[in-house]
Amino acid sequence: MSLELPSLPRVSLARLPTPLHPVRRLSEALGGPEIWFKRDDETGFALGGNKVRCLEWLIGDALHQGADCLVTAGRAHSNHVRLTLAAAARFGLDGVAILGAVPPGDVRGNLRLDHLFAAQVFAVEVEDPTQLDGDLDRQAEALRHQGRKPYVIGRGGASALGCLAYVEAVAELQEQLNEHALEPQALYCATGSCCTQAGLLVGCQLLGLDLQIRGVTVSRSVEECEEQILHLAQETGRRLSSCGITVPSSEPSLKPQILAGYRGEGYGIETPEGLEAIRLVARTEGILLDPVYTGKAMAALIAEIRQGRFHPDEKVIFLHTGGVPNLLA
Ligand SMILES: *Cc1c(COP(=O)(O)O)cnc(C)c1O
Repeated sequence: MSLELPSLPRVSLARLPTPLHPVRRLSEALGGPEIWFKRDDETGFALGGNKVRCLEWLIGDALHQGADCLVTAGRAHSNHVRLTLAAAARFGLDGVAILGAVPPGDVRGNLRLDHLFAAQVFAVEVEDPTQLDGDLDRQAEALRHQGRKPYVIGRGGASALGCLAYVEAVAELQEQLNEHALEPQALYCATGSCCTQAGLLVGCQLLGLDLQIRGVTVSRSVEECEEQILHLAQETGRRLSSCGITVPSSEPSLKPQILAGYRGEGYGIETPEGLEAIRLVARTEGILLDPVYTGKAMAALIAEIRQGRFHPDEKVIFLHTGGVPNLLA
């Protein structure tokens, strides 16, 4: 079943569908199950990643509202900020970014790209990334005073519009699963702002896909993730119903599965298990993961396989959400 939302403005940025393919040498190295990668690192715009899908809806809305600039915020090496600034450039909008805690002299990885794409990049000293939200509002207000029309995209793009992208991605995935006659048990993904996991959950409910969505938190606590996912899922449900699409409410399946214990000392801090996962995938498949998100998500999948969670014949999907610029930062 495909998902048609003709009443919502949207632009085209991502190259879709992204590939779904087996990683046989990795599966073999782990002694099963059969692992398939869904390659959202290959969304094909400004080095790709999951945020490209979300930006199709957010930029569509910004243009529809007549915005002339995009303002967003994130941590120093945010993939979301890099992609938002690139998308702004692509659609002739001025990109403005507020970055938290930039290490002095650091100009590599996403930071370097931000300065290429952006009209303005501000760095602010914050302890806690939620403090960036206030800076974002103040910056938008200042731009309005200058007669500009800013469109504000919150950290990670986490919003009902952003989640719609992953509701739609479930329809895309379902079609690919049918093509390959695959019935996977679970999908693993990295969870940060929770937009991806919330969208996937709503998508599975809406399309009746029986797939456990196991989100590996890389920043928030389990409680914060659960709260944020439920909030985003409700907002997304409301957005869909305003387009005449009703999400069947099935409470038990909305209990998000959040895996803690793979974050290590904190967001963006490498873990030995994450680095081992990056090395294993690189050496068996020639595919790059990153130390902030996908390496930690893969570390969780590897740990659960080693704990005997899956029968060797079972199928599992790993959603590769991108982030590779951070491997070079
Ligand atoms: C943002 C991001 C995630 C997490 O997605 P959320 O929707 O914010 O939970 C995962 N991987 C990468 C590479 C990201 O940039």
